Amino acid sequence: MNTIMATVKSCITEEEPSEALDVAADILKKGGLVAFPTETVYGLGGDALNTEASKKIYAAKGRPSDNPLIVHIAKEADLKRLAREIPDAAYRLADVFWPGPLTMIFQKQPAVPDSTTGGLDTVAVRMPSHPVAYELIRRSGILIAAPSANASGRPSPTLAAHVREDLDGRIDMILDGGDCRYGIESTIVDMTGEVPVVLRPGYITKEMLENVIGPVEMDAGVLSDRLHERPKAPGMKYTHYAPKATMYIVEGESPNSVIRCINRMVKERQAAGCRVGVLATRYNALAYEADEVIVIGDKEDTLMISAKLYRCLREFDTKDVDYIYAESFANTGLGTAIMNRLMKAAGHRVIQAPSI
Ligand code: AMP
Ligand code: MG
Repeated sequence: MNTIMATVKSCITEEEPSEALDVAADILKKGGLVAFPTETVYGLGGDALNTEASKKIYAAKGRPSDNPLIVHIAKEADLKRLAREIPDAAYRLADVFWPGPLTMIFQKQPAVPDSTTGGLDTVAVRMPSHPVAYELIRRSGILIAAPSANASGRPSPTLAAHVREDLDGRIDMILDGGDCRYGIESTIVDMTGEVPVVLRPGYITKEMLENVIGPVEMDAGVLSDRLHERPKAPGMKYTHYAPKATMYIVEGESPNSVIRCINRMVKERQAAGCRVGVLATRYNALAYEADEVIVIGDKEDTLMISAKLYRCLREFDTKDVDYIYAESFANTGLGTAIMNRLMKAAGHRVIQAPSI
């Protein structure tokens, strides 16, 4: 299959003609697959209510069939076509955070095929704020199932070039709308229980949710590799976001203890003939003595860190390193989402730097 590549203005409006968007909408209507930009990461879209289309998404990504997809809508009225038993709290969250990087989970309507929900009786729904995503849903007139547009297990794509790297020839079209503002996937909140539970942290933090609806729980698996008693997000059990090299996260009492510990491990690996990379924050970067040092941004600028995280992980793949040592981030606010993705990318390998 030849994948069509097309550039779209990332600030498209309803009135503007866009041939590429119309071609993309047509492909979706016919059951094909289109990768498109959202404010989180690039999504791989197909018709959520068409069993064949959602099966194609799994095949293109090489995604395990029990890892469900998120359905994207452009107007709140469409929520009822997908979900049953929508609690009042969900409408309050939608009022504040939709369109935006928040996914909510509900009991599904019978019309939603098992192939879209990975066999679950629940469905995940989000309304993206990116104008290209919005316009694609509106112009196609369908509800779009879209997981991240990467090959299964790889870091999510935040540029059209990443999608091309993973899926060229496997999907019908890629819409290039530039880079993605947040760079990590949406916050997922399960709304089916008495107390809402965050299954995946993202830009919308637990505190932001609690400010609107009161107490919210955080799933125990968010920062640990503890198996869930009842896995609500089957995706959580699979390897994720992984660069090709083996990665470690290094925690320590002070920046100096982390730098010293990383430099010692780099030396040991190099002595064994390996190439080593460090994922560094700006202030510390010059202190590392590794083969490749990639600067992710200022430690306090969590929005920049989240926006660049996957791009940095993919960059290490092009540098041919065998090991990556990454600094760690505070587990507060957006930092929780950053640590959740880093932990998965590192397969939960964490090293405590000795204090100096
Ligand atoms: P991705 O879009 O690639 O981030 O994948 C979608 C994520 O949403 C996966 O981690 C899924 O496990 C999660 N998800 C989708 N639908 C459900 C659902 N019904 N229940 C729990 N998690 C879900
Ligand atoms: Mg994904």
